Amino acid sequence: MGKRIVIALGGNALGNNLPEQMIAVKQTAKAIVDLIQEGHEVVIAHGNGPQVGMIQKAMTELTRSDPEKYIPCPLSVCVAMSQGYIGYDLQNALREELLDRGINKGVATVLTQVEVDPEDKAFQNPTKPIGAFMTKEEADKMVAERGYNVIEDAGRGYRRVVASPKPQSIIEIQSIRDMVAAGLVVVACGGGGIPVYKTEGHHLKGAAAVIDKDFASCVLAQQLEADTLIILTAVEKVAINFGKPDEKWLDELTPDEARKYMDEGHFAPGSMLPKVQAAVQFAESAPGRSALITLLEKAKDGVAGKTGTAIHQ
Ligand code: ADP
Ligand code: MG
Repeated sequence: MGKRIVIALGGNALGNNLPEQMIAVKQTAKAIVDLIQEGHEVVIAHGNGPQVGMIQKAMTELTRSDPEKYIPCPLSVCVAMSQGYIGYDLQNALREELLDRGINKGVATVLTQVEVDPEDKAFQNPTKPIGAFMTKEEADKMVAERGYNVIEDAGRGYRRVVASPKPQSIIEIQSIRDMVAAGLVVVACGGGGIPVYKTEGHHLKGAAAVIDKDFASCVLAQQLEADTLIILTAVEKVAINFGKPDEKWLDELTPDEARKYMDEGHFAPGSMLPKVQAAVQFAESAPGRSALITLLEKAKDGVAGKTGTAIHQ
């Protein structure tokens, strides 16, 4: 029986720049179509670190070139642009791979808004550096004129820092459900989604934030009632004592074991920790749900239970 699978693609599935991305998506498409060919229903989410950085830098340079003419581009708009550009490359590569294997299936990207709580504590404590380095003068100007939060980044200059609030719900969820039901391969929640919050009436306002794609994928998988959440990254398995002589790679983890290892500090914040947290949250969200963390190239073997770290009750 085919499963409904939400796949979260990490940085190595997309590369660090335009030519790298074009090459990387070919391999990514192969790994995804392997699962479709086996009869699984697949929904794809992805990160956007390098891409949103590139877009933000380009938009900042544009503003610098003529500040009278070009006002700064909101971060939420930069995220939306990154979803469009990455969605284009994924649609292009998936279409080709599907047709090459004689599978007649449409692929579509949904520009996805994700609701965040404006009272989220993350807004009081922005931690994520983004965009171009600035001089002290430029940084002071941004603080005064735009209310940016700025930090001095390891002697290299000043950078804007933004909040990384937790995703609450996916605004376009019904559209995504309808498209999945119609048999389409859907790309959604790119870069963790465009962060928005509710204001008066039905208005949604873009937030100057970046949502973690591992947490957004977890919410997407829950709202789609998926069977499996697969987080594809740069390691085949999750380890305890990672990088140490007594490193141990894990095949399976219960949520309780995972929590114990999290408390003991085995997973690095900002890289493996959010993945394990997202995996645990999904595995506990309903009976029968499981999460898998593995390498992109191992997705098929992982789903078959041959490799990766499986997290389930
Ligand atoms: P992605 O772009 O897929 O989100 P990240 O770099 O954010 O990738 O996270 C994956 C990285 O987490 C791995 O490449 C590995 O270096 C690191 N990592 C940190 N702690 C662990 C651990 N305990 N087990 C395995 N990998 C870990
Ligand atoms: Mg990451």
